[in-house]
Amino acid sequence: QEPILQVENLHTHFFTKSGVVKAVDGVSFDIKPGETLGIVGESGSGKSITAMSIMRLIKDPPGKIVDGRVLFKGENLLEKSKKEMRSIRGNQISMVFQDPMTSLNPVFTVEKQMVETIQTHRKVSKKEAIDRAVELLDLVGIPSARSRLKSYPHEFSGGMRQRVMIALALSCDPEVLIADEPTTALDVTIQAQILELLERLQKELGMAIVMITHDLGVVAEVCDRVMVMYAGKPVEFSEVTELFDHPKHPYTWGLMSSIPQIKNRQDRLEAISGLPPDLRDLPQGCSFAPRCKHAMDKCHEVDPAFREHIPAHHVRCLLYEEKEEVTT
Ligand code: SF4
Ligand code: MG
Repeated sequence: QEPILQVENLHTHFFTKSGVVKAVDGVSFDIKPGETLGIVGESGSGKSITAMSIMRLIKDPPGKIVDGRVLFKGENLLEKSKKEMRSIRGNQISMVFQDPMTSLNPVFTVEKQMVETIQTHRKVSKKEAIDRAVELLDLVGIPSARSRLKSYPHEFSGGMRQRVMIALALSCDPEVLIADEPTTALDVTIQAQILELLERLQKELGMAIVMITHDLGVVAEVCDRVMVMYAGKPVEFSEVTELFDHPKHPYTWGLMSSIPQIKNRQDRLEAISGLPPDLRDLPQGCSFAPRCKHAMDKCHEVDPAFREHIPAHHVRCLLYEEKEEVTT
């Protein structure tokens, strides 16, 4: 099966007074219909900027996509006009966020917002749009959906509001859904329910999902493949089972040891000490070197290449370059 979305060598930079922030600096991946791809990393690793770049939502200035291609069904979204992008966004490619109020307007009823979105992209009567809205609210598990149409977003609980946002994102049958930390603000039980919902919807609707998260636990639950990002670059990329069985990058090891246990979800990321680097002024050599417990002298000089050290498993780390030299 052909990929529905291909991101090739994406570079998104921000031109600020204090320097160029290389927020995304060489990201490539593809995703097939029905597949869930995880993008994982700490905040500031470039995962959200990657998503915003795909959607062409980067504010210019100061942001600019300086290189790369984003192919949706083979067509480069970076060459589309603003008008063309408006008809693609929310229609063929949709996005859901951590905070439902990013996409929901507090002053309008759910009905008004859903009908408007549906009618923006589809030539249907108001009645048909309302029926579609009910169908969608039903699909995402809002009890007695029709009676909730006249409710305002604040009249829903956090988890239910998240479901309404997902219904809104699905209103035009997107082929790709980009979910940016969709469960981060929710408590554990609701989080599990929302992840289950997304999995079920994907099975029923066959869309591709790009799941952005800082939590490898979420990746383990729903993703097929995963890209680990650090300082704007992918550092590891493989199938999820392979990543959990044979993690290769020291940053991934850190993320793994900080997977929250069900009982104490508090101590996230404790295993990786230090802070992500300043993206305006990256250290020479490997960006992770200042925080890496395994750093060697050469790590402070040589910037490792992103290589397929094992079939279908890419890693950016000099630990494996060394091995290669020895064995070949
Ligand atoms: Fe650590 Fe060196 Fe690998 Fe970078 S290249 S992750 S510093 S071992
Ligand atoms: Mg983010």
